[in-house]
Amino acid sequence: MSGLGKGITAASIGRILKNKGYNITAIKIDPYINIDAGTMNPLQHGEVFVLKDGGEVDLDLGHYERFLNTELTSEHNLTTGKIYRAVIEKERKGDYLGNTVQIIPHVTNEIKERMREVARNSGADICLVEIGGTVGDIEGMPFLEAVRQMHGEEKGGDILFVHVTLVPLDKIGEQKTKPTQHSVKALRELGLSPDAIVARCKEPLLPKTKEKISLFCDVPREAVISAHDAEDIHMVPLLLEDEGFDEYLMKKLHLKPKRDGREWHEMVEKMAKIEKKVKVALIGKYTEVEDAYLSIKEALKHAGIENGCMVDIVWIEAESLEKDPKAVKRLKEVDGILVPGGFGVRGAEGKMMAIQYARERNAPFLGLCFGMQLAVIEFARNMVGLKDANSSELAQTEHPVIDLLPEQIGVEEMGGTMRLGDYEAVLKKGSLAHRIYGKMRIVERHRHRYEVNPKYIDVIEAKGMIFSGRNKNRMEIAEIPSHRFFFASQFHPEFTSRPEKPSPPFRAFVKAMLKK
Ligand code: GLN
Repeated sequence: MSGLGKGITAASIGRILKNKGYNITAIKIDPYINIDAGTMNPLQHGEVFVLKDGGEVDLDLGHYERFLNTELTSEHNLTTGKIYRAVIEKERKGDYLGNTVQIIPHVTNEIKERMREVARNSGADICLVEIGGTVGDIEGMPFLEAVRQMHGEEKGGDILFVHVTLVPLDKIGEQKTKPTQHSVKALRELGLSPDAIVARCKEPLLPKTKEKISLFCDVPREAVISAHDAEDIHMVPLLLEDEGFDEYLMKKLHLKPKRDGREWHEMVEKMAKIEKKVKVALIGKYTEVEDAYLSIKEALKHAGIENGCMVDIVWIEAESLEKDPKAVKRLKEVDGILVPGGFGVRGAEGKMMAIQYARERNAPFLGLCFGMQLAVIEFARNMVGLKDANSSELAQTEHPVIDLLPEQIGVEEMGGTMRLGDYEAVLKKGSLAHRIYGKMRIVERHRHRYEVNPKYIDVIEAKGMIFSGRNKNRMEIAEIPSHRFFFASQFHPEFTSRPEKPSPPFRAFVKAMLKK
C-alpha cells in the first residue's frame, strides 16, 4: 500500500551504505501522468519540493537530499508524464524510423536509458531507484517491466530488489504475513523476485514472523528486515543497521565497507539526550496534512538538534484566526511564529494577523516566501499607512506592494513557469541577514510568481523594515532591525537544511526562541 514509508526506507538504505563509504544517488519514479509535482495540491501529495535547478518534485527527494546530504536535479524524479512526452517528441521527429511505437520496447527503453543516464552522470557508486505507488497499479506497470528487463541486462550482483510491505496486526495482536505473501506473488507474476523484504510493522517482527515470510516468499531469513515504527525518522537507518541490512546489501552487491561513518549515530544520540523545548506556531493553510510542510518541520528539527532543544510545532489553521480574532491569543503560549509559503487568498488575512502579533509583541518571527510577502503587506498597511496595501495575487488594489514578477506578465501556462530554484542574494553589511549567514553572498532556492514591488521600497524602509538581501531590483530578505528577531525571505531556506548542516535562518530563529 502507499504511505508506508518507502521514501524513508529508500533514504535510510542510502544512508547506511553512505556510512560505509559509498557514494549514493537516488531516483524517484512517480507513475502519475503529471510532468512534475509543480501543479499538485499539497493536500494530496504533501509539499512540493524544489531542487536547485528549479525542478518541482515529490517530497521523497527531500528525504534523499537530507539523508544523503546531497543535491539532486529534476532528472532524479521520473514521471509517466516526462517519459511519454519524450517518447512522443521522438516519434514526431521520426526517431523511431517508421516503427510502431509501443510501451514495450519504446517506453521501457526510455525509462531504462534515463535511469542509467542519471546514475552515470551522478558519478555515484550506487543508485537507489524508488518506484512509487504499489505493485498492482496500472500506471506502475511500464516501470516494473523496465526494471525486470534491467535485471536480465545487468551483471548479477549489480542490481537488487527490495520490496517494502506492511505486516499488520490482527485483533488479538498477531503479526499477519498474508498481505506480504500476496504482494510478493503479484510481483512474481510480473517476473520480479525481491532480494529482500522490508516489513513495516508496529513492533519488531517476531522470529516466527520472519521465518514465515522467509519461507513463503523465498527470501533468506537475513533478508527479512523488520522496519518497525520509530520515534523519529532519523532513527530508521540505525534500525536497519541493527537488523544487519547494511551487511546483507553489501554482500549481495559484492561490496566491502570502506569506512564506518558514525556521524549519523552521533546526531541521533545527541537528539535523544535533548531535554529543553521551544514551541513555535506554524500558521498555515494545509495544517491538517503535516506533510504539506515537511521540509519546514525537518529544518526546525535540524536547527533544534544543533541548539540542543526540541521544537514543538503548534499547527494553527490561518482561517481559524480570521473566524475568531480572539484565537490570536493562542499565540501567547508560543516562543515564536512561523508563516510558511502559500498561494491564494484563503487564510491570508489570518496569517497577517499572526504577523502583526509577532511584530507588535516582539515575538521571534520567520516568514518564508508568501510569509515574507504578507509581512511586507502587513507592515505597509499598519506602519506605512497604506490601508489597502495588498498583493495583486490576492486582490485588485491601488497599492500592490506585492506584484507580479515582470517576466510573468502574459504567462498563462501553470506548470514550471514560476521563478524556480537557485538564485543569488547579496546581503547588507551588518544586517541580521549578514549575521545569520556570516557572508555577503548567498544562494537559496525559490518558487514564486510575485515579489516586492520596487516602487514601495523607499516608503517601507523609511518606517523601519529593511530589505537586507537583494538580487538587483528583487527583494530577497525583509527584516525589522528594531525587533528582537523578525526575518522573512522570498526564498525557501527549508529546502537546503540538512541534519549535518541546519539552514542558517532556521538556526537563528530557534536560537532567538530559546533566548526568549
Ligand atoms: N503565492 C506567492 C507567489 O507566487 C508565494 C509563493 C510561495 O509561497 N511559494 O509569489
